[in-house]
Amino acid sequence: MPNSAPALDARITRIKAPQRSAWSDNTPVETTVKAVLDRVRRDGDDALRHYSREFDKLDIEAFEITPAERAAALDGLEKQTRADTEFAIERVRAFAEAQRKTLLPLEIEALPGLHLGHRIIPIARIGAYVPGGRYPLLSAPIMTIVPAKVAGCDEVVACLPPGAHPAMIAGCHLSGADRIFRVGGAQAIAAMAFGTESIPAVDKIVGPGNAYVNEAKRQVFGLVGIDQLAGPSEIFVVADETGDAVTIAVDLLAQAEHDVRTRVGLITTDRSLAEKVLVEIERQLGNLSTAPVAAAAWRDYGEIAVCADEATMLAYSDQIAAEHLEVHTRDAHATAAKLRNYGSIFIGVAASVVYSDKCCGTNHTLPTMAAGRYTGGLWVGSYLKTCTHQWLDERGVAAVAPPAMRQSASEGLEGHRRAAALRLAPAQLLSEIG
Ligand code: NAD
Repeated sequence: MPNSAPALDARITRIKAPQRSAWSDNTPVETTVKAVLDRVRRDGDDALRHYSREFDKLDIEAFEITPAERAAALDGLEKQTRADTEFAIERVRAFAEAQRKTLLPLEIEALPGLHLGHRIIPIARIGAYVPGGRYPLLSAPIMTIVPAKVAGCDEVVACLPPGAHPAMIAGCHLSGADRIFRVGGAQAIAAMAFGTESIPAVDKIVGPGNAYVNEAKRQVFGLVGIDQLAGPSEIFVVADETGDAVTIAVDLLAQAEHDVRTRVGLITTDRSLAEKVLVEIERQLGNLSTAPVAAAAWRDYGEIAVCADEATMLAYSDQIAAEHLEVHTRDAHATAAKLRNYGSIFIGVAASVVYSDKCCGTNHTLPTMAAGRYTGGLWVGSYLKTCTHQWLDERGVAAVAPPAMRQSASEGLEGHRRAAALRLAPAQLLSEIG
């Protein structure tokens, strides 16, 4: 973990410690991804075909999903699945629209004659990565595409693994994707960053994915924008003695089943609750259909930490900065108000992470690996740029030109000094230039 705190550790007893660190050596993934990026940049679609064969075991001729394929995917959607997808789209759209209203343009007169402001401008072309190698994550297209449409981006290009369930193609379509391509993993990120014969280069890539997808986003950052690194899911629960072991175990396993690399944990002040959760998880794993994944995640990355007091519990939770943080305490709102670092917080027992994962309206694309220390999750603002502007009349020039000229002169930047002086005393500057 980035910020280790020995004093804090001394106040924590782990009755279940993780066997592996999420920060373990990432070199093999980095090396694979670098090779994938280099080859896609060099060979375009041919490289995409090669990697789809290697990693997805599929031969792909045409990458773009045609209007007829979109229609077939929609036709294949069960009536209830379509209604549920549309419900989720509406919830995510409504929340994104409400959030959009909080982003306002700005115009001020900072000094007489000196006007400053900013505009909120949609990013032109978005690449939405839609994960779905292991499970058909039906909500995934909604979370990355719908906010882009609310933001007013010109074009949304969606990529999803070639073996993804047709319902996910339907989800991309219903969410408003302008173009949809069947390509997954690091090769999809490379295609959207560099462009290939079939797939256009975009301005910013958003969306979660597995370790390869995230490493690829990290490596292409700069050439294109990225939202954040949203890797294998995480859930931690902060609980006092009022916590319910069955509920906590259910919610921990609901995330553990995402990926063998999912980090899950309980941070509590109550040792007896901690012990009950430990037993309850083993019991529930006994008949969970996804136990092969969930049990591996629990074994390798599961954690139960008993803290000496509430302050230790909150400090440890802030250190972990979990992607999803559930609060199960006597006064959950008061506890939540004291916490700083998380991707999204679920206040009180009724607020299960699964509601946000699927359909309540908050975005499920959230920072992992302690990135919650410095960023929130994907939101409509991720698709917008806040760009400043300025304009001046002679009063504004009179106020800012002299300090700008003096600063330029002391920096030895004669060209800067001239540009500042030209507006204040043009005749004098022109005679200086000669
Ligand atoms: P994915 O779409 O992320 O990855 C599938 C692709 O990975 C495949 O198309 C394949 O080309 C590539 N791949 C598979 N094995 C490979 C290998 N050995 N080398 C190189 N490339 C390989 O789908 P997934 O694997 O199911 O993972 C989805 C992930 O997204 C899960 O970890 C889940 O927890 C995470 N997720 C995170 C969030 C978040 O907000 N943080 C939200 C939803 C999902």
